[in-house]
Amino acid sequence: MPTHITVNGRTYRWMDRPLVVICVDGCQYEYISAAVAAGAAPYLGRLLAGSGTCFIADSVMPSFTNPNNLSIVTGVPPSVHGICGNYFFDPERGEEVMMNDPRYLRVGTILAAFSQAGAKVAVITAKDKLRKLLGHRMKGICFSSEKADQVTLDENGIENVLDRVGMPLPSVYSAALSEFVFVAGIKLMEKERPDLMYLSTTDYIQHKAAPGTPAANDFYAMIDRNLARLDELGATIVLTADHGMNAKHGDDGQPNVIYLQDTLDAWLGANKARVILPITDPYVVHHGALGSFALVYLPATEAQRAVAARIAALPEIEMVLTRAEAAAKFELPSDRIGDLVVVSQRDTAIGTSRNRHDLSGLDVPLRSHGGTSEQQVPLLVNRGVNKQPDTRRWRNFDAFDLGLNLVTGAS
Ligand SMILES: [Zn+2]
Repeated sequence: MPTHITVNGRTYRWMDRPLVVICVDGCQYEYISAAVAAGAAPYLGRLLAGSGTCFIADSVMPSFTNPNNLSIVTGVPPSVHGICGNYFFDPERGEEVMMNDPRYLRVGTILAAFSQAGAKVAVITAKDKLRKLLGHRMKGICFSSEKADQVTLDENGIENVLDRVGMPLPSVYSAALSEFVFVAGIKLMEKERPDLMYLSTTDYIQHKAAPGTPAANDFYAMIDRNLARLDELGATIVLTADHGMNAKHGDDGQPNVIYLQDTLDAWLGANKARVILPITDPYVVHHGALGSFALVYLPATEAQRAVAARIAALPEIEMVLTRAEAAAKFELPSDRIGDLVVVSQRDTAIGTSRNRHDLSGLDVPLRSHGGTSEQQVPLLVNRGVNKQPDTRRWRNFDAFDLGLNLVTGAS
């Protein structure tokens, strides 16, 4: 085995014990601190108290699932790996498409590089939408709990997953979808003992339940039990998140939404501008495709600065950036974002047109993400870390650097 591997300009030390990197979807830091305070998460409590090392890190913008999972497994921002949403307007095709196809991925992953160099690598994701991106060019085990009943040795590097995990196939809208990821990870660690494992959950619970509520604490108690077991099995564990999660509703429980397509239609004429919501994906029931981040494509005749200033003056809006400004500030690929990038305030979501959002599935007040207000996430490791400059801006995509290079004892 090589002693080091360089991927996307960053060098990683070969592991001396298994490394498990976990992306807990939608893990606002307060979910952990509240569960610990309630006594529901004793293992995480010990980590926070000093048996491990804890940082607050910035996720990448937009604070959505796909861009951040891909940043974590590539070690670089979306400007380099190319995945800047769940959904985007493909200028080559002239249509709005899902961005979950590896054809949109512009670099290789740390997982693929280690697997090609001979490491035993495993990836388990809750939703199948991420599987092909995370497993791109990777040799080893890669499957989703969503489709755990359909795994084959040929496609996923493993078979009989349901039997091995001992759980029924979970619903795509359930806490069990994430629990399955952890339990399956432990089964692999007990038997195959991967050198490198990446686990990615889903934010179904976080979209519904605020930190410290019984449903949230139960979920973090489940995570806590499984982390303790992985630790017992001798793994280095790095836990981070793709984004935080905030309430986007008023005191009356109704969602706070600015319907930006309707606004621009009123200003510029019907459908002159095009609003894209990169949160859009096939699983919108729990958030109604409402997040705090939008892209706007303007007709060439429109003065972009003037429209930007007008949107920025709306009280629901936190920030409007031009394409160049957004590419620089948020490290986004400039060819895959709009003429304008719009971020709403912490308590407000952005919609397209009122009649294009089905909110009938919102059975609890809206909680969502996508903005800078959901950018801060935990970055925890169950070991000591060599002294780092106090000024270091930690990113969630430092997870592999932390687990392989920076923990005490790594050389
Ligand atoms: Zn997410």
